[in-house]
Amino acid sequence: SQGNPYGIEGGLLIAIDVNGNQVLKSIKKGVKDFKFGRTLGEGSYSTVMAATDRQSGKEYAIKVLDKRHIIKEKKVKYVNIEKDTLNRLTDHPGVVRLYYTFQDEQSLYFVLDLASSGELLGVLKRTTTFNEECTRFYSAEILDTIDYMHARGVIHRDLKPENVLLDDQMHVKITDFGTAKILELPKRPPRNGSNGPMESLHGSPLDGSEDSKANSFVGTAEYVSPELLTNKNACKASDLWAFGCIVYQLLAGRPPFKAGNEYLTFQKIVNLDYQFPKGFPEVARDLIERLLVLDPASRLSIEHVKNHEFFDGVSWGRGLWRLKAPKLK
Ligand code: ATP
Repeated sequence: SQGNPYGIEGGLLIAIDVNGNQVLKSIKKGVKDFKFGRTLGEGSYSTVMAATDRQSGKEYAIKVLDKRHIIKEKKVKYVNIEKDTLNRLTDHPGVVRLYYTFQDEQSLYFVLDLASSGELLGVLKRTTTFNEECTRFYSAEILDTIDYMHARGVIHRDLKPENVLLDDQMHVKITDFGTAKILELPKRPPRNGSNGPMESLHGSPLDGSEDSKANSFVGTAEYVSPELLTNKNACKASDLWAFGCIVYQLLAGRPPFKAGNEYLTFQKIVNLDYQFPKGFPEVARDLIERLLVLDPASRLSIEHVKNHEFFDGVSWGRGLWRLKAPKLK
């Protein structure tokens, strides 16, 4: 950069600190540092594009958000929630990682992991249903990621097969944290920098604060938990309800609660009105019946899910992410 008295190397600035020592500081990336490629998808106020870092050659997905549109549609808060949660979830393979954010006059840019195999929903639709082995693999990775998010104080609140992306090796990358809820973490030393977790503890939708009432519903009708419908309150167990819906859908090819419109879908959910198709595997059925429980306190906990017979043989933890993804069937 012009007039900069220090050397610049690989996005790092070599500066001299107060003691006269050389220190490396990172320089903010900008639009010019990336070569934009194909469009990966469009959201209601964003476009996601493949892009290559000119310096390292690494490929990313860049989400480009239109500032004017976000302000007009009053979505600023959701964009901040997405950024704050992603900044909290940077060390797990199952979450789309946020590497850089920057902006220009028109747009905000989120530089993310590229999930080149697209949405789990698309993959499922192409194969119609998954067999038990595939269902076990994908749901184990999803559960391991939920476990990590919860441990880091994040409730996703909109888990569904569209929000489960897949990378080039067909491993899970969960995305779409715009409606997540950030919980206060148990005491840990404060982080330096401007993206500390304390900035965003308040005012997320549906957290019981004022405007949660204006936003009586976030999420997707088919996966919404009964507690969110009855007392407008989501908790960690709400993600496990959605997880139960996903496991069902992978095996059955359709979500358990689905009707002609949102109202009828909600009716089915609060009445626990769903059936298993003929021939549905017994052990998976037992797991789902223990997840799709109306009272969130009586739903299986993550630990219990991990120990359920359906996941027999799964070794939980990072080893899961080194496995070769099973052939789709
Ligand atoms: P909305 O904002 O309306 O809820 P959305 O959440 O799908 O929609 P985006 O997050 O902008 O909006 O994503 C748009 C599309 O781009 C999605 O359909 C998704 O499949 C794709 N996409 C998003 N992130 C990535 C990524 N990291 N890698 C690959 N594709 C992605």
